[in-house]
Parts: sequence; C-alpha cells; structure tokens
Amino acid sequence: MAKRSSDWNYHPDLPLQDPSVFQDIKNPNAILRWFITHWLSLSEFVLMTLLAVALWIFCYPSLESTKTFELSWIAQTGLVNILLMVCIAGCLHSYFYIWRGQNKTLKFDEREPARNNRVFLFSDQVKDNMFWSLTSGVFQLTAYQCVTFWLMANEHMPVFTFTNNPIVFFLGLVLIPIWSAFHFYWVHRFLHQPFMYKRFHSLHHKNINIGPWSGLAMHPVEHFLYFSSLCIHWLVGASSVHLIFHVIWLGPGAAMSHTGYESLLIKDKRRLSLGTFYHQLHHRFFECNYGNQEMPWDRWFGTFHDGSDAATQATRARKKTMYS
Ligand SMILES: [Zn+2]
Ligand SMILES: [Zn+2]
Repeated sequence: MAKRSSDWNYHPDLPLQDPSVFQDIKNPNAILRWFITHWLSLSEFVLMTLLAVALWIFCYPSLESTKTFELSWIAQTGLVNILLMVCIAGCLHSYFYIWRGQNKTLKFDEREPARNNRVFLFSDQVKDNMFWSLTSGVFQLTAYQCVTFWLMANEHMPVFTFTNNPIVFFLGLVLIPIWSAFHFYWVHRFLHQPFMYKRFHSLHHKNINIGPWSGLAMHPVEHFLYFSSLCIHWLVGASSVHLIFHVIWLGPGAAMSHTGYESLLIKDKRRLSLGTFYHQLHHRFFECNYGNQEMPWDRWFGTFHDGSDAATQATRARKKTMYS
C-alpha cells in the first residue's frame, strides 16, 4: 500500500506512474492499449469529438458563410464559445462546489475557493476566474477560430474532410492533443521565465487551489500565446471538425483539467477523468510539471514532479536557481 501524504485531501498512488504512450513506444501492445483507452472508450477525447461534430452541424456558421469577415458570423461564433464555456465550466463548478455532487471525494486540495481575498479581482476567486475566462479568454479563442475559418473557406490553407481522406482525418484528431501538449509545454516553460512570470503568468498562479473556472483564468498575453496552438492548422491543414475539436480542447478542456477533482463519480464509479494530480502539483510547487501527464516532455527535460518529497526538494532548488 502506497504511503499517503497528509498535505493533500486526496492523491493517487505515489510516485506518479507514466500513462504516456511514449512510455513504451517500441511495444505495439502498449500503443494499442493507449489507443483503446483514449479513442475506443467513452473518454474525454471521444466526448469532445462528438461535441465538435454536433457544434459543427448545429451551432457554428457554415464554412461557406465565413469567406468574408462579417460581424454576424463572428458574433455567432463568439456566442457559441461563451455558451460553451458557461455550460461546461459552469456545470462543473455547480456540480462540485455548489451542489457538492461528491463532497470532497477525489478532491486533491482540502480548501474551498477563496473569498474575501484581495489577491483576486472582486476579492473572490471564482468571480476573478470567470472574468478572465469570459472576456479575454473567449474573445481571443474566438479570434483565432474566426481567422482559421476564413483561411479554410478561402482555401488559403490545406483543407481535408472525412470523405476525401478518412485516415488523415482520424490521424489529425489523434495528433491534436499530442501537438497541444508539446506546444503547451514550451509556451508554459517560457511563461515561467521570471520576466514573463512576474508580468503575465502569475495571474494564473494566484490559483493555488484550483477550480473549473481557473483553467482559462490567464493574462491576455498568456491567452495569446496559449491559443497560438491553433496556428498549426494554418500550415498543416484541418477540417472544421478538427478546428472545433482543438478549440474545445484549449477552451472548455482547460476547465475540465482544472476541476480540482480527479474524476467525476456517478454511483461511486469513475465515469469521466477530469483534473490530474500532475497539474495540481504544478499549481502548488510552480517550477515542475509544465506539460501534462500524457506526454513525456517533463520527464525528458528534467522538470517532472512525481509527488514525492524528494521531487518537492528538487523543485524548490530549481526555483531558487531561477530566481537567484
Ligand atoms: Zn493551470
Ligand atoms: Zn505555470
């Protein structure tokens, strides 16, 4: 039985294991297992793909209408994005923090969201987080998305569809989270350089104890860098479904990964993976786990915190060197 740490309300078995597909990249069985868990079960990957298809068919403007920049379709895209954030982050916040859907079961940090704390706008963590998410967050996400719609509609970038190449279509979906994690790791490391951290990224790190609205609570400069992950499509191409999947991954996906809980329980069964202890450690110890646990970048570049005391000491030492 693994030793429990009293610093946390809940944590998975430590040291953290490596669930990444890169862990055993030469073993076809391991790759197959990773693929089945992520893409052939009701995972967040599959749910986001289904949501992307539904939004493409029913909610976002048709590609035809995005050939010229017009306020109507840009506003429509923005409205869909606001509703998407409000529905996903709002429902998760309501379920976990207002209705107490599973009390503190699988909640990493014992504490409640901060109130009467002047570190936050309006002296309230949730209101502060909602403000940054629903202003600069949704605005810049929409801006990147609209430019990409326009590029696609005018064929200024490669466009592919399920019907003209189903293999490339599916491969594209599998690669988006991998690309995003790679992009996030480097952008995030850059944001942790003292110059960038003090001016911009510290806003996200006011949230040591995180909740769904903390995911997109970022400085506008950080939003600009974080959403630039979408620019990859300008070079390698996309279909509307890829673009929307990527938008969901970066926007509402950040709310899902910041719930502060490991999984959503329904009748005591884990039904949906949410936040990871991996990123929770980043919010507590800062100079570690810049990427996410699905990808090997932290392990490869020596910034991995596995939840152990030794890793905490190493992280503190790294922080000292960075700021000395
Ligand atoms: Zn975060
Ligand atoms: Zn950070």
